[in-house]
Amino acid sequence: MRIILMGPPGAGKGTQAKVIANHFGIPAISTGDIFRANVAGKTELGVEAQRYMDAGEYVPDEITNAMVRDRLAQPDAEPGFLLDGYPRTLAQVEELDGMLADGHPVNAVVVLTADSEELIARLLQRAQIEGRADDTEEVIRRRQEVYTEQTAPLIEVYAGRGLVVEIDGMGEIDAVTHRIFDALESQAG
Ligand code: AMP
Repeated sequence: MRIILMGPPGAGKGTQAKVIANHFGIPAISTGDIFRANVAGKTELGVEAQRYMDAGEYVPDEITNAMVRDRLAQPDAEPGFLLDGYPRTLAQVEELDGMLADGHPVNAVVVLTADSEELIARLLQRAQIEGRADDTEEVIRRRQEVYTEQTAPLIEVYAGRGLVVEIDGMGEIDAVTHRIFDALESQAG
C-alpha cells in the first residue's frame, strides 16, 4: 500500500497520517517531522532547512528529494508507506515517480480539504496558546499561500491519474478518519 496524504497546513494531516498508516501496518513518513528532528538535533540538514521553515517557505527540492529517497530505501518502507507532506511541488512529483518506477505505483492520493481562512484563525489561536512566538500571522498566511501556489496544482496531476480521494477535513478527528477509510474502501472496491 502506497498512499500520499495532502492538504493545507493545519488541516490535520499528521494526526490522520498516523491513524491510516497504523491501520495498514505501514510507516507514516512525514518530511516535516524529519526536518524538525534535524533542526532539533542541529544537524547540517537541520541548519539548512530551518531558515526556509521559519519563513513559511519550502525547503529546496534537491534537499527534500534526497532526504525522501534515503528514507524510502529503509527496509520498513518495503511493504508500503504513507507520505505525509511529500510531494509538495511538481518537481517532487517527478522525482517520486522515478523513485517508484519499480512497478508499485501509488495506490491513492488522499486530499484533505479545508477553508484556508478558518485554518489561519485556528493556527493563530494555537500559536498564541502554545506561545509559538515565531508563528506570526505573516508566516502562517505565507504557508497557506505557498500551499495554494505550489502544492494545490498537484491535485490535478494526480486526478489525471485517477488517484485522488478528496475528503472534507473539517470537523471531529474521528469523523474525518471515518470519511477517509470509507473513501479508500470504495476506491479499492
Ligand atoms: P509540515 O509539518 O509538513 O507542514 O512541514 C513543515 C515545514 O517543513 C514546511 O513548512 C516546509 O518548510 C518543510 N517541508 C516539509 N515537507 C516539505 C516538502 N515536501 N518540500 C519542501 N519543504 C517541506
